[in-house]
Amino acid sequence: MLFLLRFDARTVREPIISLTAIKTGALINILKADVGARKGEVIVEVPDEKSVEVLEMLKKMGVEIHEITKSIARNERCIHCGACLSICPTEVFYINVEKKIDIRAEKCIHCGACIKVCPTMALYFPI
Ligand code: SF4
Ligand code: SF4
Repeated sequence: MLFLLRFDARTVREPIISLTAIKTGALINILKADVGARKGEVIVEVPDEKSVEVLEMLKKMGVEIHEITKSIARNERCIHCGACLSICPTEVFYINVEKKIDIRAEKCIHCGACIKVCPTMALYFPI
């Protein structure tokens, strides 16, 4: 399962994801992290069988949690490099008639692979 975690000025300074992984034994995969001094947003993939345990612990430590269920979306930072097209397992991305990268969002299976490779952080999961 995929989750967007939001950290505030207090929680962003603590090693919460590491602690949660150690205490629950869950292999938490970080797909995207945008972390500053006063706040942070991190997208994580949590094994289904560990998700309840992991979420309880994150909530206890004050992290805001949103489950990601919507398909991939893109913002204006896209430079049409094609990295997402090369890696997507379900051919969500394609080259349109204007020779630009376009999206068939309905084919997205929420694997997060494109988010990892996008050089401009243009891809995201809407919540
Ligand atoms: S990887 Fe990012 S910048 Fe490159 S085409 Fe895809 S969305 Fe655009
Ligand atoms: S999240 Fe996975 S399936 Fe969805 S568009 Fe990105 S690479 Fe393709």
